[in-house]
Amino acid sequence: MSDKNLTRRVFLQNLTMAVPAGALASQTARAGDVPHIDEADPLAQGLGYVHDASTVDSSNPQTSRYEAGQLCANCALLSGEEGAAWRPCQIFPGKLVNANGWCSAWVPKG
Ligand code: SF4
Repeated sequence: MSDKNLTRRVFLQNLTMAVPAGALASQTARAGDVPHIDEADPLAQGLGYVHDASTVDSSNPQTSRYEAGQLCANCALLSGEEGAAWRPCQIFPGKLVNANGWCSAWVPKG
């Protein structure tokens, strides 16, 4: 094996270990290929995710930490293209969340 091939192999091994599979998938897939999260998805339900933050029922203990103004669009866990309606979120690898959505894992942007 040449030094060039060995270097490439080591680089790819390090990349595989450094990047979670979901994050890598979300980086390599085009936005049009990635499905939107379903509000009925068990993880989405567990975190009280909704596509429209204005519909959060803050009387529900599961979503009681919601405060007006919190949106996926201003959550530190959202990535992707600023201004896009549907974007990747670290909580839901391989799915897109609505920029106007919300879930109980919301973290303010720093
Ligand atoms: Fe939206 Fe943040 Fe919850 Fe992801 S973690 S669904 S970006 S509020």
